[in-house]
Amino acid sequence: MTHLIRNVEIEGRAGLDVRLDAGVIAEIGVGLRGGDEIDGQGGALIPGLCDHHIHLFGLAASADSVALDQVAATAAVRPPGAWIRVLGYHESQGGDLTRADLDRLAPRHRLRVQHQTGSLWILNSLALDALGVGDDPPGLERDTGRLWRGDAWLRGRIGAEPPPLAPIGARLAAYGITALTDASVTTDASAADRLAAAHRAGDLPQRLMLMSGGPLAAPADGAFAVGPLKVLLDDHSLPDFDDFTGRIAAARAQGRAVAVHCVTAAELALTLAVFEAAGSRPGDRIEHGSVIPPDAVTALKRLNLTVVTQPAFIHERGDRYAAEVAAQDQPDLYRCRSLLDAGVPVAASSDAPYASADPWAGMAAAVHRTSRGGRVLAAGERIAPARALDLYVDDPSAPGRAPRRIATGAPADLCLLDAPLAHVLDTPGAGHVRATFIAGRRVHG
Ligand SMILES: [Zn+2]
Repeated sequence: MTHLIRNVEIEGRAGLDVRLDAGVIAEIGVGLRGGDEIDGQGGALIPGLCDHHIHLFGLAASADSVALDQVAATAAVRPPGAWIRVLGYHESQGGDLTRADLDRLAPRHRLRVQHQTGSLWILNSLALDALGVGDDPPGLERDTGRLWRGDAWLRGRIGAEPPPLAPIGARLAAYGITALTDASVTTDASAADRLAAAHRAGDLPQRLMLMSGGPLAAPADGAFAVGPLKVLLDDHSLPDFDDFTGRIAAARAQGRAVAVHCVTAAELALTLAVFEAAGSRPGDRIEHGSVIPPDAVTALKRLNLTVVTQPAFIHERGDRYAAEVAAQDQPDLYRCRSLLDAGVPVAASSDAPYASADPWAGMAAAVHRTSRGGRVLAAGERIAPARALDLYVDDPSAPGRAPRRIATGAPADLCLLDAPLAHVLDTPGAGHVRATFIAGRRVHG
């Protein structure tokens, strides 16, 4: 299908027409005719957005979950014995929960509560009973009901149908997102197959790149690309140096870059030391970079590592950071401008479901760095709106390197806005997205 998008603004030039054909931008000009015409009404046409770090199954599951303060209301309408899943729990709401607390909260339902870091589940007694006994994973503490890093085991024991991906694909398309990098360390061949099937069926129309903790092969039809090998550090027990360098060697043997989860200064220090010893290559990434001390900035630049940040955490969790993070460390939280100014490649992402999947909310957070409670965190790390947009429109296989351009021959992965770009950037929001195209096909609007 040939689309002709008429009267759009591209890189500040108004009144242009763009023809999409065979999956690419075939022609850009004035007064073009023919094909399925779409009136752009003077709105900006920009490259489709990319979320460089998302967890698709987690996001789909979150649509089927409740918050801690909704447990009682949910229990009242679900039959006794049914599962209730809580996501986004933090000890600032309700303290350090244990199995006994959850038994009081939901005495007749199977309750599981995920900590907002995603690394811990807490289960009530009925949930533990339902999971059976024997072959307990090392992270399970039956007396407290705590299960550390036990997602795969939990999924295997519950045996639930995976939640549908089509609503997620549609929601992300409505944000103007045309490419996704799933950063889940747990992705194996069967999870990758499910994502590939959802992509082929059009449920998940975005281009997919998948990280994984082990080997992964790309399908012949390109339903997904294989991304970096994910290294997940656990600050409770950092891996030893040789084990970590071994994981980098394993990635290199698979021809892959490495993406290391770094949310503390200790994790980052270890990661930088390992890259200094083992060597880095383009495409190696630091996920989150939640705490980056000043001396680490020069090391990141020297090693040419991309920092894949999540600006929305400043908005969504900023009040807690302000209360809990030592004042002298607060300038190190989710750095952005100081990294860009130092020449460190930076790309943006959501880490959904752990923060909002809306990239426009992420842009607003990168620009304002204002918490929900109105507190500004490290104002010097604010960036201009156009720069914030650039963090979302680069190539998923080379995040943080260069924004994609609207040019003849480029893939027709596009986002049509309802107004000129300067206006949209004044008031960034997903409501400005009028249509989204992937490989020349309209997937939204
Ligand atoms: Zn993540």
